[in-house]
Amino acid sequence: MDRIDLTRFPMTKISGFGRYPTSPARIMPVWEDFEITRALKARGDFKFLARGTGLSYGDASLNRNNVCVSMRSMDRVLGFDHANGIIHVEAGVTLREILSFVIPKGWFLPVTPGTAHPSIGGSVACDVHGKSKLPMHNYIRRLHMILADGSPIVCSPSENPDLFFATVGGMGLTGIITSVELELQSIKSSWVRYEGTRAANLDEIFSQFKDADDWPMTVAWIDCVARGAKLGRSIMMKGRFAEPGDLKKGREPLCVPRKLKLAVPFDFPSFTLNKLTVSAFNMLYNGKHPKRLETIMDYDSFFYPLDAIAHWNRIYGRPGLLQYQFLIPPEQGFEGVKSVLEMIAATGKASFLAVLKKFGPMQNQGLLSFPTPGYFIALDFPYGNGSILEQMELWDKRVLEYGGRLYLTKDARMSRETFRAMYPRVDEFLSVKAKYDPDCVFRSDMAYRLGLVQRERRV
Ligand SMILES: Cc1cc2nc3c(=O)[nH]c(=O)nc-3n(C[C@H](O)[C@H](O)[C@H](O)COP(=O)(O)OP(=O)(O)OC[C@H]3O[C@@H](n4cnc5c(N)ncnc54)[C@H](O)[C@@H]3O)c2cc1C
Repeated sequence: MDRIDLTRFPMTKISGFGRYPTSPARIMPVWEDFEITRALKARGDFKFLARGTGLSYGDASLNRNNVCVSMRSMDRVLGFDHANGIIHVEAGVTLREILSFVIPKGWFLPVTPGTAHPSIGGSVACDVHGKSKLPMHNYIRRLHMILADGSPIVCSPSENPDLFFATVGGMGLTGIITSVELELQSIKSSWVRYEGTRAANLDEIFSQFKDADDWPMTVAWIDCVARGAKLGRSIMMKGRFAEPGDLKKGREPLCVPRKLKLAVPFDFPSFTLNKLTVSAFNMLYNGKHPKRLETIMDYDSFFYPLDAIAHWNRIYGRPGLLQYQFLIPPEQGFEGVKSVLEMIAATGKASFLAVLKKFGPMQNQGLLSFPTPGYFIALDFPYGNGSILEQMELWDKRVLEYGGRLYLTKDARMSRETFRAMYPRVDEFLSVKAKYDPDCVFRSDMAYRLGLVQRERRV
């Protein structure tokens, strides 16, 4: 096998979706498994990290002064069992590409985050969740990976299960996922029967969540600027896939919509943000969305409303954005969410719109996977907004008091101590990492920040 000179890949400054922080790395595109093996065998002092589409918000896909293996060109469908809805895809295939392939055949992703642009490999490494009830790893049959020594390995809940449960939600630190075998869900139409209701405050939205258990897909949009009696006013969104008989005449049941996309062509000055976004929620809440709305909509509008605007992160201006996504366990869900939201609203810095979601009963064996039963909220903040970092540390403390945690995929700033307190299985994760990656070849800027690897950079 030819040796490969890793210094020939130019150093490039990259960031995640939040555009904060940025970090230089050598970006190495790969098309085939053997290229990854060859590079790992020639690694010298270099540390490695897989990178998908870079849509995690913070520093999870950054690898300062080291190698980011860009998986995006590994984008082939390797197999499809039409009868049972099992697809085998390379890790760089995006969720949108999977949907375009499987919808016409009567299948859909079992879980999808709020954007269809991420790679499947990255979505597994983040163990993403969405409007449905369980996170991604529940639907994985097998993962095909390459370990630090360049050797291939397969894992699943029954085959090398320690590696499997460290890899789902493991943020790329156990090895490189090269392909994924995934169970799909069967659909008769790709249209969604939608029911939306307004809730005047947090009390109302929590009781609406309690009554919504028989809907397979739920989420609420919540106004984080409202305070006092209006704290938590929101729109509850419930959905289930429609039957062909529900559709208007002429509508193709298994259709993949092709929509014109708008784009934010340049960075907005940061000060435009609040005015713009606050009025957008008010318009939605007071104007466009009636007290109760029932309709049938295409899946893109239901699952991916933000994908209709390309590069919307640019409205946060050049400094970028931070997302704060916290979860509070169910017993104290209401009090915990209320308490943290009050702190956030009091700063006057909240994004206008946040997502609120309830995770129902589940057992999650993923060692660093985020979803556990409870309620979570995800809010965006412009970075560089005065004392936002200090404020977030105070919120972290409150989240911890309620036994909660933050989502690594969205994080760019939590401390090592906070992380350890929120993720009690860190030491188990580290011992699996030591077994499969004894020289700590896989690292990221996030892993260093959180104390999961010791060495900061190649010198
Ligand atoms: C607008 C928007 C909405 C979102 N909504 C949600 C949501 O509703 N729910 C949710 O859970 N998430 C959500 N996210 C987060 C998003 O789903 C994840 O960040 C994304 O799935 C990660 O995939 P990626 O290809 O972009 O990975 P990257 O960002 O490139 O990488 C993320 C992590 O995965 C690792 N990784 C990537 N590829 C591989 C591989 N092949 N092998 C091993 N490790 C790998 C990287 O090392 C890194 O640690 C949202 C993000 C955006 C921008």
